[in-house]
Amino acid sequence: MGGTFDPIHHGHLVAASEVAARFGLDEVIFVPTGQPWQKSMREVSPAEDRYLMTVVATASNPRFTVSRVDIDRGTPTYTVDTLRDLREMYPGAELYFITGADALGSILSWQNWRTLFGLARFVGVSRPGYDLNVEHLAPHLSDLPDEAVSLVEVPALAISSTECRERVRANRPVWYLVPDGVVQYISKRHLYLERATAAESVA
Ligand code: ATP
Ligand code: MG
Repeated sequence: MGGTFDPIHHGHLVAASEVAARFGLDEVIFVPTGQPWQKSMREVSPAEDRYLMTVVATASNPRFTVSRVDIDRGTPTYTVDTLRDLREMYPGAELYFITGADALGSILSWQNWRTLFGLARFVGVSRPGYDLNVEHLAPHLSDLPDEAVSLVEVPALAISSTECRERVRANRPVWYLVPDGVVQYISKRHLYLERATAAESVA
């Protein structure tokens, strides 16, 4: 499961857990993206902070692990590179790429989907506010083999990292939206505060 994870929240964890149970997966590997040049006009937190929050959030689940492949590659992240690297690290494994309804459409519309489907099966999970319908997500994919993309309903958690960041900035709670250790990590590292505020709180 790839993501910016800035920060990781319970929507990500529930989606991973549901898909793992549905498909009998041995392991879910969370793969935080490398440092993008730009993500929709905002600065993304340092990769090491996003990586560590992901480690903290997944530590208690023996089937959840975190990979640094995208962070260590040092270039903007493309799913095709992630999947190629993971295939090399797990030869013979059957890979599934887990993604939310919002991200599935964009991955499949602008990346080379023929190559992608040769590397992994794709699992799109429901997400409040987004349509989980493959004809709408990617109309050109209607003639795909059935196993290439599966759509899975997961318990609806209307949580986004964007809202978590806005809450921290506004001094509102993120308890129970993200794991407890992530709440503590955000506060310890002064993440998501305005720059001036962050500098003051360090001083
Ligand atoms: P941001 O608001 O910064 O975009 P986000 O909450 O969308 O953050 P990402 O790191 O962008 O989180 O998402 C990683 C993956 O998890 C994506 O495939 C996304 O669709 C999926 N995802 C995120 N939140 C949810 C949720 N609440 N329910 C289901 N899937 C989710
Ligand atoms: Mg997102």
